[in-house]
Amino acid sequence: MDFKLTEEQKALKKEFDDFFKYHMEHSAPEGFGTGLESTSTAEGNQFHRFMMKEIAKKKWNIMAWPKEFGGREAPIIEQVLFAESQAYHGAPGIDGFGAKMFAPTIILYATEEQKKRILPPIANGELQYSQGWSEPNAGSDLASLTTQAILEGDHYVINGQKTWTTGGHHADYMFLLARTDPESKRGKGLSVFNINLTLPGITRRPILYMNRSHIVNDVFFDNVIVPVEERIGEEGEGWKYTRSTMNFERSSAGTYAGLKRKVEELIQYLKGKERDGKPLAEHASVRKKLADLYMDIEVGRALAYKIAWLQEAGKMQYSPAAASESKVFSSELRQRFSQVGSEMLGLFGMVEESPWAPLNGSMPEGYQTSIGSTICAGSNEIQRNIIAWVGCGLPRFN
Ligand SMILES: Cc1cc2nc3c(=O)[nH]c(=O)nc-3n(C[C@H](O)[C@H](O)[C@H](O)COP(=O)(O)OP(=O)(O)OC[C@H]3O[C@@H](n4cnc5c(N)ncnc54)[C@H](O)[C@@H]3O)c2cc1C
Repeated sequence: MDFKLTEEQKALKKEFDDFFKYHMEHSAPEGFGTGLESTSTAEGNQFHRFMMKEIAKKKWNIMAWPKEFGGREAPIIEQVLFAESQAYHGAPGIDGFGAKMFAPTIILYATEEQKKRILPPIANGELQYSQGWSEPNAGSDLASLTTQAILEGDHYVINGQKTWTTGGHHADYMFLLARTDPESKRGKGLSVFNINLTLPGITRRPILYMNRSHIVNDVFFDNVIVPVEERIGEEGEGWKYTRSTMNFERSSAGTYAGLKRKVEELIQYLKGKERDGKPLAEHASVRKKLADLYMDIEVGRALAYKIAWLQEAGKMQYSPAAASESKVFSSELRQRFSQVGSEMLGLFGMVEESPWAPLNGSMPEGYQTSIGSTICAGSNEIQRNIIAWVGCGLPRFN
């Protein structure tokens, strides 16, 4: 296997790296990406929106889109290089829900009028989207959702609750999955809607993490009136469209690049910090743990590249569990990294907000926010079931 990049790919990677390095040095608010400062705060989100527009000027947010919608159908490896560069520099600016999940679904299934209306603001980095799937009693078993959208003349009336809505407090729009046939069961009778979150009857309520950071939300719909033009594709076909949207939520390449940068920062810190008369970096137990993390990141990167190659070659069917494998490995590695990292930093490694907190308290903050990574985007138990079924060929359970 040859991991070498071509000259064009090297040049593109440099362009991405220079762009993100510049903005993280010149445009980011102070302390962005460390401790509790992230895109979920007001100031952090302002920076995220600024970066969305800067990236849109370069058309990097839509590089994978078909040419007729302004994209350039960029090869998967170029998308991977972009995701790696962005994550390595800890930069925000990609609306994963809008540009990477909803837009490809629109391109496949929406009417011409909807494509003309919905795609341009996403391409220009003007709108932030959120994902309205999970409900208090429908997560892994999403098809049991009960939020209703009932057709009355030229509009739908929506009632129900969505939960765990990532970034819902800052989002302008949501792609919503709701039941348009109240008599239907499971995947039948569901439809997808493009919802403006400022409509009357919509209430958003924060769900705070254990460290008080505000990332996810409850969103309530109380007799919300939505014009029929906002229903995507055919009524009752929402499950089919949603399964297709799920397939756009796959790559974990950025996670490994982001962790690589964090390990480098940790190594730097440990070289300069002494314990028992010598730098921590010279302690055998620390060196072993770092070597293990470094190895895991390389394994994960190889897995992500394998997925990219399979997608590019149209051969995903030969390794149908690969995306699940990478999801499990990357999310558990995120947790392992923060846990092991906190241990290496000693007592103050557990402290978030203190002048003595090493690396601005980013390690415990990273640990607490990484807890959700093994649950979101399909829990790791569900992913392991998929690996057992389609990867190992074991019998399928429902
Ligand atoms: C940080 C975070 C962000 C999220 N963001 C969004 C978002 O933006 N939009 C959105 O719609 N949703 C979002 N979610 C919701 C997420 O998709 C669900 O939490 C997830 O699908 C699990 O559903 P649940 O929470 O209802 O748990 P449940 O489905 O009730 O599962 C409970 C436990 O049982 C296990 N389990 C369930 N079924 C099986 C099975 N068949 N076999 C083995 N084990 C099983 C699960 O793995 C889990 O451990 C987010 C969640 C988190 C934590």
